[in-house]
Amino acid sequence: MKAIIVGGGVMGLSVAWGLTRDGHDVELFEQGPLPNPLASSMDEHRLIRHPYGDQEGYARLIDDAYAAWELMWGDLGQRLYAATGTLALTGNGADWAERSAVTLATIGKSMTELPLAELPRRFPQIEGQGIERAFWMESGGVLFAQDIVTSLAGYLARQPGIRLHPHTPVRSVDLEQGRITTESGAVHAADVVVVAAGAWVNRLLPGFGQRLIPSRQTVIYFDMPADARAAWAKGPMIIEKTGDVGLYLVPPMEGRGLKIGDHEFSRTGDPMDERTASEDDIRPLLKRCRSLLRGFDRWRTDRLKVCFYTVTDDERFVVERPAARGWIMSPCSGHGFKFGALMGLELARTLASGRDAKAHARWAAGLEVPAPT
Ligand SMILES: Cc1cc2nc3c(=O)[nH]c(=O)nc-3n(C[C@H](O)[C@H](O)[C@H](O)COP(=O)(O)OP(=O)(O)OC[C@H]3O[C@@H](n4cnc5c(N)ncnc54)[C@H](O)[C@@H]3O)c2cc1C
Repeated sequence: MKAIIVGGGVMGLSVAWGLTRDGHDVELFEQGPLPNPLASSMDEHRLIRHPYGDQEGYARLIDDAYAAWELMWGDLGQRLYAATGTLALTGNGADWAERSAVTLATIGKSMTELPLAELPRRFPQIEGQGIERAFWMESGGVLFAQDIVTSLAGYLARQPGIRLHPHTPVRSVDLEQGRITTESGAVHAADVVVVAAGAWVNRLLPGFGQRLIPSRQTVIYFDMPADARAAWAKGPMIIEKTGDVGLYLVPPMEGRGLKIGDHEFSRTGDPMDERTASEDDIRPLLKRCRSLLRGFDRWRTDRLKVCFYTVTDDERFVVERPAARGWIMSPCSGHGFKFGALMGLELARTLASGRDAKAHARWAAGLEVPAPT
């Protein structure tokens, strides 16, 4: 079988990986360099964690996601992950952590509530103002995202049966016929076309514009004194929700930066726009950091990074076959990276084996576990 893949983020590269592992032919087209610094997948890190609110399907998929990453580490010859554990903090009536714990209990996973009095002893770097409940889970950690996509692109370039086309924007796709046309007018055909175009997807498939809304997100990298950095370099990751701003903190594992972002979707912007962030973008986050993190007055903003993903109403992934020879692959809504290796392997299996497309779409949407056979 031969597949054409449009997009060289974690999703496109992972499908290519899954297909080439099984001896299939792949041509992958990327509009920019490979990997592209503008891609959603290109940031220092992305989190993987079991707590998923009420979304039991995705919580169940996390073990499979870890297994898929292990397979990838074996092929890449390096493990681009650091464990941190997951600390979920809530206040002001927010119940995401509590709901996560209930959901996890139903699938046999333990997320334990910590007495608030224990917080300062276990995590002295947290100030804890406004926190009413704290939950801890041993699992969870940081995937070194840009190193993963860089290493994977390099690995694929060395495999037989695959041709990578960086700097080759695709102008249009014909998912009925399995054809694409590049910006220069060249036409390529295959048994199947997979569009994994991230936040640019609506340019190629405008019919999905109502469902997949591009969302501009800003994250902050911090510069901090050496003692604070050393303390945070042991973890944990924090998922916090105490009111207007829900934030996540990615600890500076193995020499990477410490990053903070928020969970709110902007649902605005275009990935082709200028990506300069302003102080207005981050003011609410900084305000919350001041009351949450001990010694925050000694931290300095090192840099801001603007990134785009697509958002769906229910935050479920869209991995569907809208036409006979074509798939859209948009594991989006700001939580897709952790599932990159798994989504790639499973879509490759479905493409090669002719597994039921509708069942696959339900599985990817976190509605049906395990994967279709
Ligand atoms: C701020 C932020 C924080 C996040 N945090 C997490 C997290 O903690 N955990 C987690 O699991 N996920 C997280 N995510 C989500 C995760 O990063 C994305 O779900 C994932 O990277 C999407 O990968 P992708 O391959 O679909 O898209 P991308 O990485 O954007 O790749 C799409 C590629 O397609 C290319 N392309 C587009 N159009 C064309 C065309 N016409 N021709 C050729 N090439 C084209 C683009 O150039 C791009 O390289 C976060 C995302 C952001 C932005």
